[in-house]
Amino acid sequence: MKKHNFSAGPCILPQEVLLRSSEAIMDFNGSGLSLIEISHRSKDFVDVMEKARSLALELLGLEGKGYSALFLHGGASMEFLMVAYNFLETKAGYLNTGTWSEKAIKEAKMFGDVVEVGSSKDENFNYIPKGYSVAEGLDYLHLTSNNTIFGTQIKKFPKTNVPLICDMSSDIFSRQLDFSQFDLIYAGAQKNMGPAGATLVVVKDDVLGKVSRKIPSMLDYQVHISKDSMFNTPPVFAVYTSMLTLEWLKNLGGIAAIEEINEKKARLLYSEIDLNPVFTGFANKEDRSSMNATFNLADEKLKDTFDALWKDAGINGLNGHRSVGGYRASMYNALSLESVGVLVDVMSEMERKG
Ligand SMILES: *Cc1c(COP(=O)(O)O)cnc(C)c1O
Repeated sequence: MKKHNFSAGPCILPQEVLLRSSEAIMDFNGSGLSLIEISHRSKDFVDVMEKARSLALELLGLEGKGYSALFLHGGASMEFLMVAYNFLETKAGYLNTGTWSEKAIKEAKMFGDVVEVGSSKDENFNYIPKGYSVAEGLDYLHLTSNNTIFGTQIKKFPKTNVPLICDMSSDIFSRQLDFSQFDLIYAGAQKNMGPAGATLVVVKDDVLGKVSRKIPSMLDYQVHISKDSMFNTPPVFAVYTSMLTLEWLKNLGGIAAIEEINEKKARLLYSEIDLNPVFTGFANKEDRSSMNATFNLADEKLKDTFDALWKDAGINGLNGHRSVGGYRASMYNALSLESVGVLVDVMSEMERKG
């Protein structure tokens, strides 16, 4: 039986996407060849890459607005250093909202000065710092829109005069935003788009080419743009599966439609967390994420009972990250409202038992 997959990443993907991508492994487009054994320069695959790139821009509302979409290797972690390599001349600002921000900061420090414009480390990252100021003269400001581990999400983005760069790995394509306020967006595919192996980068062309250092080809966004995201062999399976997920999303009605479903799922789960005395929420209410909900048991002695109940209900991937403990329910785009309902039923049953 298919599990209710609340895994934080790699994450649940739509069943129809899994079916179609597995078919392409055996026979791609009726060619008698597998997707993963044909040339990435063949017309069939070049079409896939172009479709994936244009769907990404279309869904984000960035088509024809001077942006390029790339599917690169190396995960979001590679972007931590590529961003700095391509943009950090002297000093950059970073908002420190958790483990992933800290990792991005660590890489950036190898290339220049890092100003932490704000940090929520004092409260184990259970909130999003607000009211911070962004000094003039920074090469860019880097944000993490959704903090996968701690379950917080930026709801309102700062207005700045410096380029805005955002790690959207765990909430890209999940909610409507004015994406044109960002100069560069990156996201590892495996949180909300596809399997691990590809990273989406969406970058405004005219912010590139401003650092004085020489950039190795593989780390240079302009090289990847000039080669239509085919500088070297791309991760074809991850790109194809991501393309199928983006098509699925478009057919569903795009980000506006999925946002409505995501809000329903989040409301259902958070109202249970708030009303059920057996559980306590981790993240600050106004900052909590619609993708990753973090919560704890009010009484740790109930752990074995609760763990047995959710596992029996066919739920997977509910354990919290080791730096937070407790539980984390990740409700990415492909997770159904029905699956959240199953979890909420288990939580109410705990209340009856407790
Ligand atoms: C998972 C995650 C990353 C790391 O992604 P990799 O593709 O494994 O490098 C970075 N940032 C955020 C917000 C994440 O959730």
